Amino acid sequence: MHNDNPAIPYSIVPGIVWPALPDTRAVSPLALLQQFDQSQWWPPELLRERQWQQVQRLLMHACQTSAGYRERLTRAGLPADGRIAPEDWLRVPLLTRAELQHGYAALRSTAIPADHGAVLEDHTSGSTGRPVRFAKTALTDVFWRAFTLRDHFWQGRDFSQRLAAIRACDAGQALPPDGIQRTGWGGATDGIYPTGPASLLTIETDIEQQLDWLLRQDAGYLLTYPTNLRVLVQLSAQRGVRPARLREVRTVSESLDMDLRELVRSVWHVPVTDMYTTREVGYIALQCPQHAHYHVMAEGALVEILNADDRPCTPGEIGRVVVTALHNFALPLIRYEIGDYAEVGAPCPCGRGLPVLARILGRSRNMLTLPDGSRHWPRFGYAKFGDIAPIRQLQLVQHTVEDIEARLVVDTALNVEQEARLTVHLQTALGHPFRIRFTYLDSIPRSANGKYEDVLSLVEPSVVTGNSE
Ligand SMILES: [Zn+2]
Repeated sequence: MHNDNPAIPYSIVPGIVWPALPDTRAVSPLALLQQFDQSQWWPPELLRERQWQQVQRLLMHACQTSAGYRERLTRAGLPADGRIAPEDWLRVPLLTRAELQHGYAALRSTAIPADHGAVLEDHTSGSTGRPVRFAKTALTDVFWRAFTLRDHFWQGRDFSQRLAAIRACDAGQALPPDGIQRTGWGGATDGIYPTGPASLLTIETDIEQQLDWLLRQDAGYLLTYPTNLRVLVQLSAQRGVRPARLREVRTVSESLDMDLRELVRSVWHVPVTDMYTTREVGYIALQCPQHAHYHVMAEGALVEILNADDRPCTPGEIGRVVVTALHNFALPLIRYEIGDYAEVGAPCPCGRGLPVLARILGRSRNMLTLPDGSRHWPRFGYAKFGDIAPIRQLQLVQHTVEDIEARLVVDTALNVEQEARLTVHLQTALGHPFRIRFTYLDSIPRSANGKYEDVLSLVEPSVVTGNSE
């Protein structure tokens, strides 16, 4: 994408403004970015070869300095020093979230190379209960900065614009009506590129206040979560207002539907760009600059999409997302089963050799179970809702294979006729005549990490969690 206002890094040498000579803190992310600009065009085989070289180093480090990994490889009949052949990779045991929760102490490295910088310990906010503890190094943060910059450049962002973010914040932070104002976009650009200011508002804010706030910011970019974006755009359409200078919406943290992209395009006349990242792994995939699907950040993560038999999926198939974080030597994450599902995509016409994910789906608890035992991620045609009744928020909770509770947040309760129409619409969209009962709530709370799940199944899968499509 072209950009009329290209970004130039800060220059620290007096008298030199262009090309800039950046300071030492900026040099490493920029050096990575320069290499990413080459490697994105490599053929897949070359990317895999380079990844494998890094995986071998990581595996040997893990085996040398983590009793947990030594034990896992030994148990699989693999050499305890981690020197394995590429063809044995699929025998390396998968690391589940539960195993990471229980085994953190044993999996963590006891000898982190000093050159990887300060070690930071943290935990995910645990949307389904127990959080996952993890550790990172300053070096992994350098990669995080470089991938964020890649996203900015891929999408041709104008760094002089204001960035507005509505997201989960620490308790009591970024409260309405004003939120917080910052002088720069944040950690990825600070000290590297001059940027416009940023505004931050907590996701807990009432939606009417969110929209008022957003209109006041006059921002070029908005970053928020898909479920929040949907409500915000719907309200914007109802009120006949829109953020006039907005150029693009960036989404994180939840899966993004195609129909939401279209809704934002029709109401706000701007594109939506999604990214796939997690606290413990960092960037997993970014949206292609030319298409609505995603490219795996192969320079930072080896991503496998595995079917129910733990074999790699082929394009068009949906499977579990398994990630190896290539550069985290504090808590090696090797074949870490993150809990999400994704659909493998065909090679991208843009020419980049980075692997393609066609869609990022939710977690298995977001799948509905049909009476025949099959499970799928429902699409329930949000666009139709507006024709039936003004619905602010909807959450479907499956209690049994036949029963679904539709939780609604509305200004006025639906009448019998509207409920009947919505029932038919949902039954059609979900592909089964479920018994649907309506409950009315003042709001549907988000989890601690700000996530909101529009489908939640409480039905225990009768078979081991796997690919059912
Ligand atoms: Zn592409």
